Amino acid sequence: MHSHESCPCFSGKKYEECCRPFHQGVFPQNALLLMRSRFSAYVLNLADYIIETTHPASPQYSENKFLWKRSISQFSQKCFFSNLKVLDFKEHSIIATVTFTAHISQEGQDATFTERSTFEKKNDQWLYRGGLIAQGQAPNLVTTAPLRLLPLAYYGDPVLRRKGDSILEITDDIKKLIEEMIETMDDSDGIGLAAPQVHHSLRLFVIHTPIQKEENKLEKGSVKVFINPILSLPSSETWQAPEGCLSIPTLRGVVERPKEVTVEYTTLEGKRIQEHVSGWEARVIMHEYDHIEGILYIDRLPEEEQAKLKPFLDNIEKRIHGDL
Ligand SMILES: [Zn+2]
Ligand SMILES: [Zn+2]
Repeated sequence: MHSHESCPCFSGKKYEECCRPFHQGVFPQNALLLMRSRFSAYVLNLADYIIETTHPASPQYSENKFLWKRSISQFSQKCFFSNLKVLDFKEHSIIATVTFTAHISQEGQDATFTERSTFEKKNDQWLYRGGLIAQGQAPNLVTTAPLRLLPLAYYGDPVLRRKGDSILEITDDIKKLIEEMIETMDDSDGIGLAAPQVHHSLRLFVIHTPIQKEENKLEKGSVKVFINPILSLPSSETWQAPEGCLSIPTLRGVVERPKEVTVEYTTLEGKRIQEHVSGWEARVIMHEYDHIEGILYIDRLPEEEQAKLKPFLDNIEKRIHGDL
């Protein structure tokens, strides 16, 4: 590798001004830089760098460093890397995803693939956590045991009526669950998702901070994770707005809720914080908080409204749970 050459991550910058500092020990400030520097490490056959930047909980991780290193080197030597295109980059505090297309060929055959990689920050350092192949086949080295979309629990499932348990420790399993909940929420185009809705009876939910642009249109802001939340001081002033729920497909109902509320919760990093929220953010938080208490928004509708929905709810229940 000549230092004046352009960086093998296809950034168009010189290697020494792009990925070389990372290969020499500087920690990339974000997951996107880590992704690029891992790509260029594959091109340059820097197996040690790949190993050092892989999370121990990654499916790609191996205790057998000798074999692992050898398979990385074989991959690097077998591949011709012709381009890297980053399609998307999202960072949620200590979890990030980068979607990219790697244009490569192996032994003259096109082996281009698109991967959504997940990264996790551990001790202030970003690490590769896993990947999901979106298109093309997985070359031998890219992991295939990835983020899962979680199955939703639907109306009639007893898990939706249980009170969730507190989370005692934010373990790797909990972090993985949170990642998968965010993926599942986004995949279903939801604005919030609580753990019981994916069959985990835990005091945990994720939301997209709602941003109201037009009257009846919400935009999705950044992702927030609420662990062991406690609500207090609901305002006496209330307002009504239509709500839906991923666990009760197709139905909507106008729910009256306090305008403001205080929420205390533990963040993904383990910090306990308190916030006062209002409007749509308060509504989404209260809707999701209800889930970890075993309450659904339909319980909050006026009785005659509930009676009207009854046949639809029975129908959902029959359709989904009927053959059980
Ligand atoms: Zn680079
Ligand atoms: Zn819901």
